[in-house]
Amino acid sequence: RRAEAWEHRFAPGATRDGHRVEVAANLGATADTADAVENGAEGVGLLRTEFLFMAHASAPALDTQVAEYRHAVEALAGRPLVARTLDVGGDKPLPYWPLPAEENPFLGLRGIRLALTQPEVLATQLEALLRAGRGAPLRIMLPMVKDVAEFRAAKALFDALMQRLTPEERATDVELGVMIEVPASALLAPSLATEVDFFSIGTNDLTQYTLAIDRGHPVLSAQADGLHPAVLRLIQMTVDAAHAQGKWVGVCGELASDATAVPVLVGLGVDELSVSARQVPLVKARLREFDLADAKAAAELALGHATASDVRDALEAR
Ligand code: PEP
Ligand code: MG
Repeated sequence: RRAEAWEHRFAPGATRDGHRVEVAANLGATADTADAVENGAEGVGLLRTEFLFMAHASAPALDTQVAEYRHAVEALAGRPLVARTLDVGGDKPLPYWPLPAEENPFLGLRGIRLALTQPEVLATQLEALLRAGRGAPLRIMLPMVKDVAEFRAAKALFDALMQRLTPEERATDVELGVMIEVPASALLAPSLATEVDFFSIGTNDLTQYTLAIDRGHPVLSAQADGLHPAVLRLIQMTVDAAHAQGKWVGVCGELASDATAVPVLVGLGVDELSVSARQVPLVKARLREFDLADAKAAAELALGHATASDVRDALEAR
């Protein structure tokens, strides 16, 4: 199966009957971009930019960031880059950005909330992404957004840069979206969808926060299953709200490369799956195994069960 999947890795992601689902790669470093392309990735669906901030003793300067992001843009040769702005705090500490001691760091200053405490750092990163994205499709996404207020605060910085930089200096094919990884943002997807350009569902955190199970918990994390019907309902609400406004939706958490979950996500209407580079050929092969109608039936079946294990049993018995 692996050999067959590898052979067809450059075919566009699609179900057996030709329904398109883009398959992109999650990257933790821009140096891995060429490898992702070689694995058949149709773009980068999640660039975790923390690597760049962790590799320096202080927040990296504008030029350093431009050079890094440009490396990914060039290796992608016209394919889209979905870059996430800095997502530290919680499970991702940053030495030079002292965080208050918190009882519950996962419920504390992290993601966009933390970034907005130092807007100049966020603005520098946005500027670097915009400059590096010249001539290429650039999608910027904000982590851990819970409502439109956080989105608007970041968008104000983005809009100011779009005004200040000339179209020659920056990306022109650019979208600004949010990650859906907090239940509030899925519940409020209809209001977010009118303002954002796209959603990318981070099922790792969305599952953690929906089920109240620490994603790294030594005992409980096995129960943190993204196929839990509560999580699936939030995904359904997100996709429906986005499509009602003509916006696209990706999934960039672990669930996107789960062979049992792939038909469910496609059946719920997800437009893009972003997975680790080595999973790209396998996810494309998985898509070729079913038709869109099968996927819709799988989604309906999944939504009809009350626990994650019942969902898995029902899907695996099909
Ligand atoms: C997620 O939460 O699903 C996600 C993709 O982001 P990260 O794993 O980097 O928190
Ligand atoms: Mg996350």
